[in-house]
Amino acid sequence: MITSAPFLATGRVRVAPKQMLMQMVIDGPEFARRMNRAQGLVAITDLARIREYLTTEDGSLDCKLQGGFSEDDSGHLELRLSIAGELQLKCQRCLQAMRFPLDLEKRLRLVMSVRDWPEEDVEDEGFDAIEASREMAVGALIEDEVVLALPISPRHENCDFPTMKDTKQDASPFAVLRKLKID
Ligand SMILES: [Zn+2]
Repeated sequence: MITSAPFLATGRVRVAPKQMLMQMVIDGPEFARRMNRAQGLVAITDLARIREYLTTEDGSLDCKLQGGFSEDDSGHLELRLSIAGELQLKCQRCLQAMRFPLDLEKRLRLVMSVRDWPEEDVEDEGFDAIEASREMAVGALIEDEVVLALPISPRHENCDFPTMKDTKQDASPFAVLRKLKID
């Protein structure tokens, strides 16, 4: 069993050990052309950019990155990124946890310059254009997609603002949070 190598080679497919996905840097065009694959669990605590929207950083997301070509005959290189799991967002009304299931399947077309791909065109085609590079951080790709998937203002369908009884003694939002936790 090979445990020291950064990748386990299985024919043309290379699978990254689970703990490495956030640290992986890929040659984007090469990864796509060779139809490489990487998958693993990403700890939510590693997604620093979404931390402020969460009530807990426990848990992980199941992520897969697959290189390949566009479905049409244009031969464009693409990365397919799947992200599945669940986040606990902070409800903007009651400040309590709110389950937010994630099940993303994104097609990322590798282009020389995103300026050549107007956003409206790209959206119609069902993929996003990202700038191809020989050094692409997989962690940043994952984090970008999770950030884009978040609702602008997450709220439960039915919940109440913290009541006046909770807030009148101390107006600090942290005091409200403390009280809610004790309840
Ligand atoms: Zn709420």
